[in-house]
Amino acid sequence: MEQSRQKENSNANSKNNDKNNFLIKGNELSDIKHVVAVISGKGGVGKSLVTSLLGVMMKRKGYKVGILDADITGPSIPKIFGVNELRPQVFGEGIFPVETGNDLKIMSINFLLDSPDSPVIWRGPLIGNAVKQFWTDVVWNELDYLFIDMPPGTGDVPLTVFQSIPLDGIVIVISPQDLVSLIVKKSFNMARTMNIPILGIVENMSYIVCPKCGERIDVFGESKTEKIAKEMNIPFLGRIPIDKNIAELCDRGEIEKVNENYLEMCIKALESLY
Ligand code: ADP
Repeated sequence: MEQSRQKENSNANSKNNDKNNFLIKGNELSDIKHVVAVISGKGGVGKSLVTSLLGVMMKRKGYKVGILDADITGPSIPKIFGVNELRPQVFGEGIFPVETGNDLKIMSINFLLDSPDSPVIWRGPLIGNAVKQFWTDVVWNELDYLFIDMPPGTGDVPLTVFQSIPLDGIVIVISPQDLVSLIVKKSFNMARTMNIPILGIVENMSYIVCPKCGERIDVFGESKTEKIAKEMNIPFLGRIPIDKNIAELCDRGEIEKVNENYLEMCIKALESLY
Protein backbone atom coordinates (compact mmCIF):
# COMPACT_ATOMS: atom_id res chain seq x y z
CA MET A 1 0.00 0.00 0.00
CA GLU A 2 2.74 2.39 1.03
CA GLN A 3 4.68 1.68 -2.14
CA SER A 4 1.69 2.26 -4.31
CA ARG A 5 0.82 5.54 -2.60
CA GLN A 6 4.38 6.68 -3.00
CA LYS A 7 4.19 5.69 -6.65
CA GLU A 8 1.00 7.63 -7.12
CA ASN A 9 2.20 10.69 -5.30
CA SER A 10 5.51 10.68 -7.09
CA ASN A 11 3.59 10.21 -10.30
CA ALA A 12 1.47 13.26 -9.53
CA ASN A 13 4.58 15.11 -8.44
CA SER A 14 6.62 14.24 -11.49
CA LYS A 15 3.73 15.14 -13.76
CA ASN A 16 3.51 18.36 -11.81
CA ASN A 17 7.03 19.23 -12.88
CA ASP A 18 5.58 19.93 -16.29
CA LYS A 19 4.70 23.61 -16.20
CA ASN A 20 1.31 23.01 -17.81
CA ASN A 21 0.37 20.41 -15.27
CA PHE A 22 -1.94 21.03 -12.34
CA LEU A 23 -2.36 17.50 -11.00
CA ILE A 24 -3.07 17.38 -7.30
CA LYS A 25 -2.24 14.70 -4.74
CA GLY A 26 -5.00 12.54 -3.41
CA ASN A 27 -5.72 12.12 0.30
CA GLU A 28 -2.76 10.90 2.37
CA LEU A 29 -4.83 7.98 3.61
CA SER A 30 -6.05 6.96 0.16
CA ASP A 31 -4.25 4.40 -1.93
CA ILE A 32 -5.97 4.40 -5.32
CA LYS A 33 -4.42 2.29 -8.03
CA HIS A 34 -6.49 3.35 -11.05
CA VAL A 35 -8.75 6.29 -11.73
CA VAL A 36 -11.09 6.09 -14.72
CA ALA A 37 -13.52 8.83 -15.75
CA VAL A 38 -16.73 8.01 -17.58
CA ILE A 39 -17.81 10.79 -19.93
CA SER A 40 -20.52 11.60 -22.46
CA GLY A 41 -21.33 14.40 -24.85
CA LYS A 42 -24.79 15.05 -23.46
CA GLY A 43 -27.00 14.02 -20.55
CA GLY A 44 -29.33 11.06 -20.49
CA VAL A 45 -27.25 8.69 -22.61
CA GLY A 46 -26.60 6.34 -19.68
CA LYS A 47 -23.25 7.54 -18.38
CA SER A 48 -24.25 7.02 -14.74
CA LEU A 49 -25.61 3.61 -15.60
CA VAL A 50 -22.35 2.59 -17.28
CA THR A 51 -20.33 3.96 -14.33
CA SER A 52 -22.52 1.97 -11.92
CA LEU A 53 -22.35 -1.23 -13.96
CA LEU A 54 -18.57 -0.99 -14.21
CA GLY A 55 -18.41 -0.49 -10.44
CA VAL A 56 -20.67 -3.46 -9.75
CA MET A 57 -18.89 -5.78 -12.21
CA MET A 58 -15.41 -4.90 -10.97
CA LYS A 59 -16.54 -5.34 -7.37
CA ARG A 60 -17.88 -8.79 -8.24
CA LYS A 61 -14.48 -9.65 -9.67
CA GLY A 62 -13.03 -8.98 -6.23
CA TYR A 63 -11.58 -5.51 -6.80
CA LYS A 64 -11.96 -2.72 -4.28
CA VAL A 65 -14.07 -0.09 -5.98
CA GLY A 66 -15.17 3.49 -5.38
CA ILE A 67 -17.37 5.83 -7.37
CA LEU A 68 -16.92 9.58 -7.30
CA ASP A 69 -20.11 11.17 -8.58
CA ALA A 70 -19.13 14.47 -10.14
CA ASP A 71 -22.26 14.83 -12.24
CA ILE A 72 -23.85 17.84 -10.66
CA THR A 73 -26.33 18.09 -13.52
CA GLY A 74 -27.92 14.81 -12.49
CA PRO A 75 -26.17 13.22 -9.53
CA SER A 76 -27.91 9.87 -9.80
CA ILE A 77 -25.30 7.45 -8.42
CA PRO A 78 -26.66 7.46 -4.81
CA LYS A 79 -30.15 6.74 -6.14
CA ILE A 80 -29.02 3.92 -8.43
CA PHE A 81 -27.32 2.27 -5.43
CA GLY A 82 -30.17 3.02 -3.02
CA VAL A 83 -27.98 5.08 -0.64
CA ASN A 84 -29.66 8.43 -1.15
CA GLU A 85 -30.55 8.75 2.51
CA LEU A 86 -27.05 8.01 3.83
CA ARG A 87 -24.47 10.68 4.58
CA PRO A 88 -20.66 10.51 4.58
CA GLN A 89 -19.03 10.52 8.03
CA VAL A 90 -16.66 13.34 8.84
CA PHE A 91 -13.76 12.69 11.24
CA GLY A 92 -11.28 15.50 11.82
CA GLU A 93 -9.98 16.54 8.45
CA GLY A 94 -11.25 13.51 6.58
CA ILE A 95 -14.55 12.54 4.99
CA PHE A 96 -15.44 8.86 4.79
CA PRO A 97 -17.46 7.84 1.75
CA VAL A 98 -20.82 6.11 2.00
CA GLU A 99 -20.67 2.32 1.56
CA THR A 100 -23.24 0.21 -0.27
CA GLY A 101 -24.38 -3.23 0.91
CA ASN A 102 -21.57 -4.74 -1.17
CA ASP A 103 -18.87 -2.43 0.21
CA LEU A 104 -18.66 -0.24 -2.83
CA LYS A 105 -17.66 3.26 -1.74
CA ILE A 106 -19.54 6.28 -3.00
CA MET A 107 -19.09 10.03 -2.71
CA SER A 108 -21.54 12.33 -4.40
CA ILE A 109 -22.43 15.97 -4.56
CA ASN A 110 -25.93 14.76 -3.74
CA PHE A 111 -24.81 13.88 -0.22
CA LEU A 112 -24.04 17.53 0.38
CA LEU A 113 -27.54 18.72 -0.44
CA ASP A 114 -30.29 18.98 2.16
CA SER A 115 -32.53 16.78 0.12
CA PRO A 116 -31.76 14.85 -3.08
CA ASP A 117 -34.25 16.91 -5.08
CA SER A 118 -32.86 20.29 -4.00
CA PRO A 119 -31.87 22.31 -7.04
CA VAL A 120 -28.14 22.70 -7.45
CA ILE A 121 -27.41 26.38 -7.75
CA TRP A 122 -23.65 26.24 -7.48
CA ARG A 123 -21.52 27.76 -10.16
CA GLY A 124 -18.89 25.85 -12.16
CA PRO A 125 -15.78 26.79 -10.13
CA LEU A 126 -17.50 25.88 -6.86
CA ILE A 127 -18.55 22.51 -8.22
CA GLY A 128 -15.05 21.98 -9.58
CA ASN A 129 -13.67 22.66 -6.11
CA ALA A 130 -16.12 20.23 -4.51
CA VAL A 131 -14.98 17.54 -6.93
CA LYS A 132 -11.33 18.31 -6.17
CA GLN A 133 -12.13 17.96 -2.47
CA PHE A 134 -13.63 14.54 -3.14
CA TRP A 135 -10.15 13.66 -4.32
CA THR A 136 -8.10 15.41 -1.64
CA ASP A 137 -10.29 15.16 1.48
CA VAL A 138 -12.19 11.92 1.05
CA VAL A 139 -10.52 8.97 2.74
CA TRP A 140 -11.04 6.27 0.13
CA ASN A 141 -8.49 4.02 1.78
CA GLU A 142 -7.33 1.25 -0.52
CA LEU A 143 -9.04 1.09 -3.93
CA ASP A 144 -8.20 -0.82 -7.08
CA TYR A 145 -10.48 1.36 -9.17
CA LEU A 146 -12.07 4.74 -8.64
CA PHE A 147 -14.65 5.58 -11.28
CA ILE A 148 -15.60 9.21 -11.81
CA ASP A 149 -19.08 9.87 -13.17
CA MET A 150 -18.48 13.14 -15.00
CA PRO A 151 -20.97 15.82 -15.94
CA PRO A 152 -21.78 15.63 -19.66
CA GLY A 153 -19.94 17.83 -22.14
CA THR A 154 -16.75 19.81 -21.88
CA GLY A 155 -17.56 22.47 -19.27
CA ASP A 156 -15.67 23.65 -16.20
CA VAL A 157 -15.98 20.46 -14.18
CA PRO A 158 -14.69 17.97 -16.77
CA LEU A 159 -11.85 20.37 -17.46
CA THR A 160 -11.03 20.63 -13.74
CA VAL A 161 -11.09 16.84 -13.34
CA PHE A 162 -8.95 16.29 -16.42
CA GLN A 163 -6.44 18.85 -15.20
CA SER A 164 -6.27 18.02 -11.54
CA ILE A 165 -6.88 14.31 -10.98
CA PRO A 166 -4.33 11.86 -12.41
CA LEU A 167 -6.57 9.78 -14.68
CA ASP A 168 -5.55 6.41 -16.07
CA GLY A 169 -8.12 6.71 -18.81
CA ILE A 170 -11.60 7.63 -19.89
CA VAL A 171 -14.54 5.62 -21.15
CA ILE A 172 -16.86 7.46 -23.55
CA VAL A 173 -20.56 6.59 -23.45
CA ILE A 174 -22.72 7.39 -26.44
CA SER A 175 -26.14 6.55 -27.73
CA PRO A 176 -26.52 5.41 -31.35
CA GLN A 177 -27.82 8.80 -32.57
CA ASP A 178 -25.09 10.62 -30.71
CA LEU A 179 -22.23 9.56 -32.92
CA VAL A 180 -21.89 12.58 -35.08
CA SER A 181 -22.38 14.86 -32.10
CA LEU A 182 -19.87 17.62 -31.99
CA ILE A 183 -19.80 17.44 -28.20
CA VAL A 184 -18.59 13.84 -28.23
CA LYS A 185 -15.80 14.88 -30.55
CA LYS A 186 -15.01 17.83 -28.30
CA SER A 187 -14.75 15.58 -25.23
CA PHE A 188 -12.60 13.21 -27.22
CA ASN A 189 -10.33 16.03 -28.36
CA MET A 190 -10.13 17.49 -24.87
CA ALA A 191 -8.89 14.15 -23.51
CA ARG A 192 -6.44 13.71 -26.39
CA THR A 193 -5.05 17.21 -26.00
CA MET A 194 -4.48 16.57 -22.31
CA ASN A 195 -2.79 13.23 -23.01
CA ILE A 196 -5.42 11.24 -21.17
CA PRO A 197 -5.69 7.71 -22.58
CA ILE A 198 -9.07 6.91 -24.15
CA LEU A 199 -9.91 3.36 -23.12
CA GLY A 200 -12.76 3.18 -25.59
CA ILE A 201 -16.41 3.77 -26.47
CA VAL A 202 -19.46 2.02 -25.04
CA GLU A 203 -22.72 2.36 -26.94
CA ASN A 204 -25.80 2.43 -24.72
CA MET A 205 -29.47 1.94 -25.62
CA SER A 206 -28.31 0.29 -28.84
CA TYR A 207 -31.10 -2.18 -29.43
CA ILE A 208 -34.02 -3.93 -27.78
CA VAL A 209 -34.66 -7.61 -27.39
CA CYS A 210 -38.25 -8.71 -28.07
CA PRO A 211 -39.53 -10.13 -24.77
CA LYS A 212 -41.69 -12.66 -26.65
CA CYS A 213 -39.38 -14.12 -29.29
CA GLY A 214 -35.95 -12.89 -28.16
CA GLU A 215 -35.28 -11.26 -31.53
CA ARG A 216 -32.86 -8.37 -31.42
CA ILE A 217 -34.24 -5.19 -32.95
CA ASP A 218 -31.91 -2.37 -33.94
CA VAL A 219 -34.33 0.47 -33.25
CA PHE A 220 -31.95 3.09 -34.59
CA GLY A 221 -30.92 1.07 -37.65
CA GLU A 222 -27.61 -0.67 -37.99
CA SER A 223 -25.09 0.74 -35.54
CA LYS A 224 -22.16 2.61 -37.00
CA THR A 225 -20.29 2.93 -33.73
CA GLU A 226 -17.78 0.20 -34.38
CA LYS A 227 -16.84 1.60 -37.76
CA ILE A 228 -16.48 5.13 -36.45
CA ALA A 229 -14.52 3.94 -33.40
CA LYS A 230 -12.13 2.30 -35.85
CA GLU A 231 -11.84 5.46 -37.91
CA MET A 232 -11.11 7.50 -34.79
CA ASN A 233 -8.67 4.83 -33.65
CA ILE A 234 -10.50 4.18 -30.38
CA PRO A 235 -11.32 0.68 -29.07
CA PHE A 236 -14.99 -0.27 -29.25
CA LEU A 237 -15.93 -1.69 -25.85
CA GLY A 238 -19.41 -3.06 -26.35
CA ARG A 239 -23.06 -2.14 -26.43
CA ILE A 240 -25.90 -2.22 -23.94
CA PRO A 241 -29.51 -2.73 -25.04
CA ILE A 242 -32.47 -0.79 -23.73
CA ASP A 243 -33.23 -3.15 -20.88
CA LYS A 244 -36.40 -2.79 -18.81
CA ASN A 245 -34.88 -4.86 -16.03
CA ILE A 246 -31.91 -2.49 -15.74
CA ALA A 247 -34.20 0.57 -15.72
CA GLU A 248 -36.22 -0.98 -12.88
CA LEU A 249 -33.12 -1.90 -10.87
CA CYS A 250 -31.89 1.71 -11.21
CA ASP A 251 -35.27 3.04 -10.11
CA ARG A 252 -35.34 0.77 -7.07
CA GLY A 253 -31.74 1.52 -6.10
CA GLU A 254 -30.81 -2.12 -6.59
CA ILE A 255 -28.25 -2.04 -9.36
CA GLU A 256 -26.02 -4.39 -7.36
CA LYS A 257 -28.52 -7.17 -8.13
CA VAL A 258 -27.99 -6.92 -11.89
CA ASN A 259 -27.43 -10.26 -13.64
CA GLU A 260 -26.54 -9.27 -17.18
CA ASN A 261 -22.96 -8.42 -18.01
CA TYR A 262 -22.96 -6.29 -21.14
CA LEU A 263 -19.58 -4.79 -20.41
CA GLU A 264 -17.14 -7.66 -20.64
CA MET A 265 -14.89 -5.95 -23.17
CA CYS A 266 -14.81 -2.81 -21.08
CA ILE A 267 -13.94 -4.82 -17.98
CA LYS A 268 -11.05 -6.42 -19.87
CA ALA A 269 -9.77 -2.99 -20.89
CA LEU A 270 -9.91 -1.89 -17.26
CA GLU A 271 -8.09 -4.99 -16.06
CA SER A 272 -5.41 -4.40 -18.65
CA LEU A 273 -4.49 -1.23 -16.74
CA TYR A 274 -2.87 -3.48 -14.16
P1 ADP B 1 -26.69 10.06 -17.84
O1 ADP B 1 -25.79 9.73 -16.69
O2 ADP B 1 -25.98 9.96 -19.17
O3 ADP B 1 -27.41 11.36 -17.69
P2 ADP B 1 -28.33 7.91 -16.80
O4 ADP B 1 -27.36 6.80 -16.64
O5 ADP B 1 -28.74 8.66 -15.57
O6 ADP B 1 -27.82 8.94 -17.91
O7 ADP B 1 -29.62 7.31 -17.56
C1 ADP B 1 -30.76 8.11 -17.82
C2 ADP B 1 -32.00 7.27 -17.60
O8 ADP B 1 -32.08 6.26 -18.57
C3 ADP B 1 -32.04 6.58 -16.24
O9 ADP B 1 -33.34 6.57 -15.76
C4 ADP B 1 -31.57 5.16 -16.55
O10 ADP B 1 -32.11 4.22 -15.65
C5 ADP B 1 -32.13 4.96 -17.97
N1 ADP B 1 -31.28 4.07 -18.76
C6 ADP B 1 -30.03 4.29 -19.13
N2 ADP B 1 -29.55 3.28 -19.88
C7 ADP B 1 -30.55 2.37 -19.96
C8 ADP B 1 -30.67 1.09 -20.60
N3 ADP B 1 -29.68 0.54 -21.29
N4 ADP B 1 -31.85 0.43 -20.47
C9 ADP B 1 -32.86 0.99 -19.77
N5 ADP B 1 -32.81 2.18 -19.16
C10 ADP B 1 -31.67 2.87 -19.26
